[in-house]
Amino acid sequence: MECTKRAISYFDNAATTRITEPVLEEMMPFLTESYGNPSSTYRLGVMAKQAITTARKRVAKAINAESEQIFFTSSATESNNIVRRAFVGVSTSPYEHPSMPNSFIANMDKIQALKDNHNQGIVTSCIMVHNELGTIFPVKHLAARSHSKGNKFHTDATQAFGHVPIDVKDIDCDFLSLSGHKFHAPKGVGVLYIKEPDKFKSDIIGGDQEKKIRPGTENVASIVGMGKAAELYNYSEISDKHYQDLYETLLMELIEQYKLDFKVNMIKGLSHVWNILNLSFKGINGEGLAAILDSQGFCVSTGSACHSASIEVSPILKEIKVSEDYIHGTIRVSFSQENTINEVKALAQAIANYIGIMQVIKEK
Ligand code: PMP
Repeated sequence: MECTKRAISYFDNAATTRITEPVLEEMMPFLTESYGNPSSTYRLGVMAKQAITTARKRVAKAINAESEQIFFTSSATESNNIVRRAFVGVSTSPYEHPSMPNSFIANMDKIQALKDNHNQGIVTSCIMVHNELGTIFPVKHLAARSHSKGNKFHTDATQAFGHVPIDVKDIDCDFLSLSGHKFHAPKGVGVLYIKEPDKFKSDIIGGDQEKKIRPGTENVASIVGMGKAAELYNYSEISDKHYQDLYETLLMELIEQYKLDFKVNMIKGLSHVWNILNLSFKGINGEGLAAILDSQGFCVSTGSACHSASIEVSPILKEIKVSEDYIHGTIRVSFSQENTINEVKALAQAIANYIGIMQVIKEK
């Protein structure tokens, strides 16, 4: 991918990604002349409906699902909530996105209503790739364990798409969530995969769209863009090798070239994706570092993007026990295919310059 036009070096792709030209090109007709409502029966409507069908096929293929199992939503947040609200109990890992908290419904009427709707008692949920650390969770194993207890299994694959191969049949998950803007489609469009859609009822009330699981007039252009992006930016060994090169270059530069004192934050015993690096620099303020990097044209986040406006230490860093002298100096660097080795080297140099200056100030 060509990137020389960009004035900034964008290293916050776990927060969101750029809509690329081929994705935008695919979307444009549906933002301009082909603006029909997909529920309308005249040509303009039929064209929109057909475009959604194509997008559904593309998304299904990317995760080895059937088209009938793919539902378009407004976001991964909504996909997670549709699943969460359909169950009496939700049992989650401590590492979930805030849209998938542990929760149990105490209201007996609601329990009866859910049972009447064929929905099961408890869903277990585990994130596939952690948004701050890039940790890959063993979701296939967790799905089998949930099923052995009679529970359904959901995985939030928002940060996984493009970074690990996703095969819903192999994982044997009952539900899976995705978000378009994490893989070069627009913001405000998501996917919910449902293994047995005929047995599932969501609590969203409205029209017949998306088989009533997510009623509401479809966001046609964004769905179309997401279909194209799913085709273009799915996991491949070639793209993964590029991520690994970027990841290793950044680490090598920080360690060997600049000899900085820092930790790479991970969950011990689990592997990780190559596009997310969570780094804690000793005795440094992460917000200060991110702000200086921003002034030099580098975008990085200081924790998860959802918390980036807050200066509280991210709970996950506490959970994995990052020590006090490092924890406040944390930044997350997350790559896309558009990032280059030279950009990464420039980022390492900018980090080293800032840390060098801070050390001189402290010594005075
Ligand atoms: N789950 C995970 C793991 C995420 O990283 C995010 C976005 N930060 C979401 C869910 C929410 O996605 P969306 O922005 O589509 O609501």
